[in-house]
Amino acid sequence: MTAQRAGERAKLKIGPEHVAWVKEELCIGCDQCTIVCDDHAIEVYPVKLRSPILDVDINKKARILREPCTGCGLCVLACPTDAIVMIDR
Ligand code: SF4
Ligand code: SF4
Repeated sequence: MTAQRAGERAKLKIGPEHVAWVKEELCIGCDQCTIVCDDHAIEVYPVKLRSPILDVDINKKARILREPCTGCGLCVLACPTDAIVMIDR
């Protein structure tokens, strides 16, 4: 973990009082968050490709399932585009 990531982790709102939230516009559908989430609290859903000239294949987005989310924050650290934030429940 880089120093920057460690700093971000220290600032994260984690725990049962919090829940993850995906900023849809930043999500590139890479599935990294679903890999790290042990609680099956993230699902990806298909979306239409917005631009044919994008060099990243954006054809799906992630969303958080609030009930199973334990607020652990792992998905925030895993997301390469900083699309996930922790919010108050
Ligand atoms: S905060 Fe933890 S439990 Fe919730 S979606 Fe992210 S990885 Fe899964
Ligand atoms: S890790 Fe981030 S960019 Fe990748 S699917 Fe999850 S929310 Fe989207």
